[in-house]
Amino acid sequence: MKILVQKFGGTSVATPESMKRVREKVLSGLAQGCKVVAVLSARAGETNKLLALAEEWSASPDLAETDALVSTGEQVSVSLFAMMLKDAGIRARSLLAWQIPIVTDDDFGNARIRSIDSAILRDCLAEYDVLVVAGFQGRTADGRITTLGRGGSDTSAVALAAVLNSVECEIYTDVDGVYTTDPNICSTARKMDHIAYEEMLEMASMGAKVLHIRSVEFAKKYKVPVRVRSTFSNDPGTLVTQEDSRMEAVLVSGIAYDKDQARVTLRDLPDIPGTAAAVFGPLSEKGILVDMIVQNTSLDGRTDITFTIPRKDLRQTLEIMEDVAPRTGASEVIHDVSVAKVSAIGVGMRNHSGVAARAFSALTQESINILMISTSEIKITILIQEKYVELAVRILHDAFGLDWDID
Ligand code: ASP
Ligand code: MG
Repeated sequence: MKILVQKFGGTSVATPESMKRVREKVLSGLAQGCKVVAVLSARAGETNKLLALAEEWSASPDLAETDALVSTGEQVSVSLFAMMLKDAGIRARSLLAWQIPIVTDDDFGNARIRSIDSAILRDCLAEYDVLVVAGFQGRTADGRITTLGRGGSDTSAVALAAVLNSVECEIYTDVDGVYTTDPNICSTARKMDHIAYEEMLEMASMGAKVLHIRSVEFAKKYKVPVRVRSTFSNDPGTLVTQEDSRMEAVLVSGIAYDKDQARVTLRDLPDIPGTAAAVFGPLSEKGILVDMIVQNTSLDGRTDITFTIPRKDLRQTLEIMEDVAPRTGASEVIHDVSVAKVSAIGVGMRNHSGVAARAFSALTQESINILMISTSEIKITILIQEKYVELAVRILHDAFGLDWDID
C-alpha cells in the first residue's frame, strides 16, 4: 500500500473555499494510487485566539490545561475536513493524536514526540482511503494532552511520514516553496527546486521560517523527503532532501538574515583560564542562547570578549554582566542593539574555497562594515549594522549568482 502524507497549514484550512482546494490536493494524492494521511493545522489565527483566551480567563494558565485548550483548534479542522471529504463520497475519518496514539514527553507547550504506534493507523488505512489527522498535538504516556510548540504540525506530519514510510511528506502552505532568500526584500529571489536538509536547517534557524525546525531535524534523521509547496498553485515546490552532487556543485544555495540580534562586549578582561566560563555560565543558567562569540588575541595578558544574543534577552544579559564584569575584572560592558546577521549557506562550501573572500569583497564595494564574522562548514555569517541588512542580502544574493535570470 502506497501512503502519502500531506500537511496543510492554517491559511489552507481557513475557509470552506480553501478547504475545497485542500480536497483537490487530497484527490490528486488518491489519483496517484496512494492512501492519503492529511495532517491539518488549526485554522489561521485560531491558536492565537485560544492562547489569548487562556490569558483572559486565568492569571497564570496551567500549562497542561493550556495544551488541552489549544489542541482543540486542530480538532475543529480535522472534523470539518473529514465531513467535506465524506460529502464528496470519499471514505475518510478524522483522528486525534490520542486516538493513534502519538506519544510525547510531558514538556507541555513544547513536547517532543517519543513514539507513534502505527497499528491503529494501518487498520484505519485498510478501511478508509483518507485519514485526517490533527497536527500539533500528542499525549503523554499517562494520557495527558500535549502540544509540540508553535508551527508543530509540520513535525507531526514528518513523524507520521517516517513511521508510515510515506513516499514523500508534502507540506502545503501559502508560498510556492523555499526561496534563495526573502522575496520581500530581494525581488530577484528564486524558488529552489531542491535543498539539502542541512541547508534548510540553517535557513530555518536564520529566520526563513517556512518549516518548523524540528520537522527538518526529524526528516533528516529518518531520511524523509519533504516537499514544500502551495495549496493555491500546481507548482511542484521545493524538495528538502539528502545532499547530492547537484547541490554540491553550487557554491551558495541561499542567503538568510536575522534582525533579532544584540551585541555585547566585555572590555579588557584578564586572559586567564576560567574567564569565558565565568561570562557564559550565568547566561546558560538563565537559558539565554548565545550565538556568535569572538575573543580577541590577548595583548599584555588582557583581552575583549564579544558575543551576540536574541534582542529580547539583552536587558537580562546586561543585568547578569553587571555582576560578571567586576568578578572577572572587565573594565567595561558595551552593547549595541541595532545589529543583524546575514548568512550565506551552501553545502557546496565544503569543497570550495574563496567563499568568505567573495562575500567580504562584495560588501566592501558597498562600504558595508563587518562587525563580526563566524563560519561553519556550510555557512558564513556576518554581523553588520541592521540598517544595511536589506542591501547586504541583495548584494550577496547577486555576488553568488543566485539572482533570477530572465532567460
Ligand atoms: N496551530 C499551531 C500553531 O499555530 C500548529 C501549526 O499550525 O503548525 O502554531
Ligand atoms: Mg507553519
